[in-house]
Amino acid sequence: MIDHHVPDSMLLDHVAGTLPMVADVLVATHLALCPRCRGEVAMMEDAAGAMLADVEPVAADDDALLANLLGRLDDPLPQDTVGPAPFATAPPEALLPKPLRCVVGPSKDLVWSTSLPAVGKRVPLDLDLAGVPATLERVFPGRSVPSHGHEGVELTLVLAGGYTDGPGHFVRGDVQVVGPETVHSLNIDDDGEDCVLLSVRSAGRVPDGLKARIAKWLGAI
Ligand SMILES: [Zn+2]
Repeated sequence: MIDHHVPDSMLLDHVAGTLPMVADVLVATHLALCPRCRGEVAMMEDAAGAMLADVEPVAADDDALLANLLGRLDDPLPQDTVGPAPFATAPPEALLPKPLRCVVGPSKDLVWSTSLPAVGKRVPLDLDLAGVPATLERVFPGRSVPSHGHEGVELTLVLAGGYTDGPGHFVRGDVQVVGPETVHSLNIDDDGEDCVLLSVRSAGRVPDGLKARIAKWLGAI
């Protein structure tokens, strides 16, 4: 059961279309798994639609302007707005919900690599927030992401398995949002199941302690 949701402020930015792409992908992936947040988004969209309906129409007293606007409706869309329509055609798959799969491809094609083979693997994604690549992280049961702080915001979405961070337990669909004020470690404690995370950061992690410094040096956090 999902207990950790996307903050309302991020849902509003998602509805408004103002989130950076990689954060928007994370939110859309959470929405694919979370009926509660889908309901929140539907209410926000209804409220936004009602507000737009209340706007007084502007009198179109300039015939030339109106003709120009109507003519532009027939123009082809700019190339960068014509994207594929992959959501409807993507094959079903358990690990990656459609919004994420449509960006990174099917999980069978992911190329996992590791510098700490006893701990886990990762896939850097061709997505970034402020120049820091998003990653898929796969951490083995009984292992941990060593204690670290953050130079910016870190968004984590659980795709499989689960982890404990202090009093919080996070499972598939849960989202954790932390900022520079947070120093934490993630302990993979769901028996027998790899924990797969989508990690999005606006800046690097700051190692806290020798174990984390070694992991950072190895490029593992
Ligand atoms: Zn939610």
